[in-house]
Amino acid sequence: MLPVFCVKMVSVDKFKSEFKQMITIKREAERMSIMKYCCSEHVELALDEAVDEFEVAPQLTKLESVDKSEFICGYCGQPAVYIVANE
Ligand SMILES: [Zn+2]
Repeated sequence: MLPVFCVKMVSVDKFKSEFKQMITIKREAERMSIMKYCCSEHVELALDEAVDEFEVAPQLTKLESVDKSEFICGYCGQPAVYIVANE
């Protein structure tokens, strides 16, 4: 009985970790959908739009520790400097 029990424990743990991953990915996807990337020129425009869209004061985050080339301003296509998000 013991080996069967062990297998069951492993599969439950595996299921739990996969479920956690799914939730994390879902949350990240939700967060992504309400994030705007913008360069320093368009940050004020992005903030104005965010206030209208989010209906709450948006949070501004400066991109410093990440590779900036991965993020592009949604207005002009230049490398993004800021992220505007609703959390
Ligand atoms: Zn821009």
